[in-house]
Amino acid sequence: MKNRIVQLLIATFLSAAPALANAENGIRFHWPQGQRAAVSLAYDDALDSQLDVALPTLDKYGLKGSFYLQLSNPAVDRRLAGWRAAATHGHELGNHSLFHQCSLRTHDWVQPQRNLDTTSVAQMQDQLALANTMLYAIDGKRERTYTVPCGDTLAAGADYLPAVAPSFVAIKVAGQAVTPSMAALNPHAVGVYAPEGLSGQQLIALVQQAAAQGTMVNFTFHGVGGDYLSTSAAAHEELVSYLAANRQLYWTDTFLNIMTYVKTQRGDH
Ligand SMILES: [Zn+2]
Repeated sequence: MKNRIVQLLIATFLSAAPALANAENGIRFHWPQGQRAAVSLAYDDALDSQLDVALPTLDKYGLKGSFYLQLSNPAVDRRLAGWRAAATHGHELGNHSLFHQCSLRTHDWVQPQRNLDTTSVAQMQDQLALANTMLYAIDGKRERTYTVPCGDTLAAGADYLPAVAPSFVAIKVAGQAVTPSMAALNPHAVGVYAPEGLSGQQLIALVQQAAAQGTMVNFTFHGVGGDYLSTSAAAHEELVSYLAANRQLYWTDTFLNIMTYVKTQRGDH
């Protein structure tokens, strides 16, 4: 009889397990101050429109973003004081590699010397370490996150992320905007979405979806009111002003701060 009760308890627990897992994802995972979702506003490639349009908008509303610098971009050299000032004001400077290697097979604009198909894992490891040193020279910070250029992860045919993961608190890869599960999230493979031409309302809808799920949303913008893969300045400001007006629902912060919190909250080591 006792065994029978134990068996029943085990069966009941197992049948309830999926529900418990979902609760873990959406309800039992707590954001600071009880917000419903975290929001990472990130900007790739070190574009002028980010310093000229996106950054002043974030500062106007008092929100922090993450700027992923491709360090060989002449715009980093030309506007170094601007990037350094952004870091001083609490924004994150992230690693977006030295040379932005992507696969020539899937991106026909890739220059041959920047072809990830012919760059080794060891070369990527060396270059990302150097990029971290350059970023340290700019902002004095030691903790860093990375966004994979083009979302391409195969260096000369081999996945290079395991080799570089120890150098980063977290890594953004290609994926969907809204994180499906905080419990199942791999901090070194966080899916991000690169919007292009979306309206403010479309961007806000993604934020609301993250709140409904209790997870996070990752936007990787490129041009804002200019440059390429652009989001209009108006749509960007509509999103930022909405987030600022709803701070009790949304924790908008740097990807570094959000992922440091996520790892602590989950008890990752
Ligand atoms: Zn890029």
